[in-house]
Amino acid sequence: MPSPHQPSLSDSPAAPATGVTRAPDGHLWLTPRSAAWLADRRLAKLMRVVAGEDEEIRVVGGAVRNALLGRTVSDIDLATTATPDVVMARAKSAGMKPVPTGIDHGTVTVVVDAHPFEVTTLREDVETHGRRATVRFGRDWSADARRRDFTINALYATADGEVVDLVGGISDCLERRIRFIGSPQDRIREDYLRILRFFRFHAIYGDGQPDAGGLAACIALADGIATLSAERIGQEMLKLVVAEASNRVLQIMAETGILRRIADFDADVAALARLNALLGQLPAEMRPTDDAGLRLAALCGESAAAALHLAERMRLSNAMRDRMVAAIDLSKTVGDDCDERAVRALVFKAGNQRTRDCLLVAACRPTAEKLQLRLPDLIVYAASFQRPHLPVNGRDLIRHGLVPGPDVGAAIATLSERWIDSDFTLDRDRLIATLAPDSPIVPRR
Ligand code: ATP
Ligand code: MG
Repeated sequence: MPSPHQPSLSDSPAAPATGVTRAPDGHLWLTPRSAAWLADRRLAKLMRVVAGEDEEIRVVGGAVRNALLGRTVSDIDLATTATPDVVMARAKSAGMKPVPTGIDHGTVTVVVDAHPFEVTTLREDVETHGRRATVRFGRDWSADARRRDFTINALYATADGEVVDLVGGISDCLERRIRFIGSPQDRIREDYLRILRFFRFHAIYGDGQPDAGGLAACIALADGIATLSAERIGQEMLKLVVAEASNRVLQIMAETGILRRIADFDADVAALARLNALLGQLPAEMRPTDDAGLRLAALCGESAAAALHLAERMRLSNAMRDRMVAAIDLSKTVGDDCDERAVRALVFKAGNQRTRDCLLVAACRPTAEKLQLRLPDLIVYAASFQRPHLPVNGRDLIRHGLVPGPDVGAAIATLSERWIDSDFTLDRDRLIATLAPDSPIVPRR
């Protein structure tokens, strides 16, 4: 049992920035501004329908935590005393679309006017078989809270916005402390993914050093990471790496040997720190929105082999793996004296997005001082320069007398290089003319 914490809003240093107010009777309420989503008529209707006359339903987890911290809320999870079959029946009879997405764990996804909400019935552990808990549905909010991982993730909000805190989550949230519910060692032994979640939540919501007890338990039990599937590792790490403080947290994970349990290579955390700083200097509209792959590429230093290894350990999509490898390989062609002309050549070869990626990765090198200074301008330029198309194609060359086959491909490659060398000024006829035997330039093969 965790010790019951008394939330102390008034004396918390972070109090002014919070999305919660205390009523004279001591009850805590989300402010209408922090929880505008509570007024969403689809959510309100769903909560009313599932609760009926005899059940309870509350928003839980990330939505409440983020509202409290004044952060954006992406998805809304709900917990209810109603059993899954009751949730299904009530939702259906109110014209909503319930989908039994995880019925064994008590989860029904209810689609209301095209918006999905995850509704999960309260659960309690009744016995454990080795490491697996047998779960049954329950009606005890405190038991449900204690099954969750961290105090900040076990906050509930009622339909009218009252915050229910059964584990001391409010004060931890406001003091930006990630604390396991109950004994960290016990909770990690139940699910080793919680090691990675501890670091992920610290990177996003924590401040200062991680909670000492939690960190010590993560280090002591790090061997358990080997039992996790690549998918679960990948999902957590992708969220961790995009956090603002990812490099500070990954540094701790590297120093404590935890990062090595995930991927066996020397992670270049300093390069990621430089990337985080460089991204922060870019104009908002130039910052890549989907930059997890880019951050992982920085972490791989200059090693495409490390990127391939990481992609496998995290079961990344082929698209993300290819993007990482391309950024690393292409970055090796980017010198510290990179200018707009060099960017034009990169865009021609690799397209706008890959050019931006490789510029960022190249600028992560500790010696790339000149490039770092010019980076914002070059990134803006890389985004705006329209990729030129070689004005010669295979048919032109065959008409010109080349035999269809490998010669055509080789000539196209040669002409591409010559076109780059001319800074895209040669037109079709002048390019083809360079293939003539008496041309001063002999095609390379
Ligand atoms: P976000 O979706 O913003 O990343 P979240 O808090 O919603 O954050 P999820 O991973 O979506 O995180 O999980 C939803 C909730 O389920 C958590 O807030 C937590 O209460 C509980 N939870 C999820 N995974 C675990 C776990 N491995 N162990 C214990 N509780 C968990
Ligand atoms: Mg979530």
